[in-house]
Amino acid sequence: MKVTIVGCSGSFPGPDSPSSCYLLEAEGFRMLLDFGNGSLGALQRHIGLYDVDAICLSHLHADHCLDMCSYHVVRTYSPKGPHPRVPVHAPADAPRRLARAYDMPAEPGMETSFDFAPLAPGTFEVGPFRVTAAPMNHPVETYGFRVSYGGRSVAYSADTGETDELVRLAAGADLLLCEASFPDVPGLPADLHLTGRQAAEHAARAEAGTLVLTHLVPWHDPARILDDASRAGFPGRMELARSGAVYDLG
Ligand SMILES: [Zn+2]
Ligand SMILES: [Zn+2]
Repeated sequence: MKVTIVGCSGSFPGPDSPSSCYLLEAEGFRMLLDFGNGSLGALQRHIGLYDVDAICLSHLHADHCLDMCSYHVVRTYSPKGPHPRVPVHAPADAPRRLARAYDMPAEPGMETSFDFAPLAPGTFEVGPFRVTAAPMNHPVETYGFRVSYGGRSVAYSADTGETDELVRLAAGADLLLCEASFPDVPGLPADLHLTGRQAAEHAARAEAGTLVLTHLVPWHDPARILDDASRAGFPGRMELARSGAVYDLG
């Protein structure tokens, strides 16, 4: 399984990265975790425009799903004619919300481009991958994902505040893509996002192999986030996410 960070900027695109988007590949099958604003552009550095085989959306905040609108144009209005519909696993309200974002009628909405399936906590198969969705601690319906293939696994926190669900989801994962939106300062809002320190604490409790700190918000210094995380006692490899970084899990 090959994991490519397409976008890792938190809350809005930054100068060096689009918003959240991760490309997972195995057996020639290509699946996206999230499709945030700006990521469709960077995605084309890694795969062809029409090469997406499945999409999982963690939640319906703009920085995690808005390029679905652009990709609807790609699939439906291509000069090569309409392309087959892409399976999309997303919160149940996704078809209506994305149609609204595009400014199109909810019926038929984006059904020419996407085959939507509502997410619920649990495990399901997508192509060669086994995907587990778990509810995260965020103000809207949000799922973290664990994707397994060939005995290896990657976990993705999506957006979340502190939660044991993330520790369970990431237990023993080879790679944990964990959000670290806040610097570790007093008075942070609860149940919204993690600090670097909290991300590393969750990774340590999960005994994850490698921790990648992601959802890095451009108005914070990433070195500060990494420094906060480095003081949490996580024993594994730890680094900041970078658009274009590739992790080959074998
Ligand atoms: Zn976000
Ligand atoms: Zn969010």
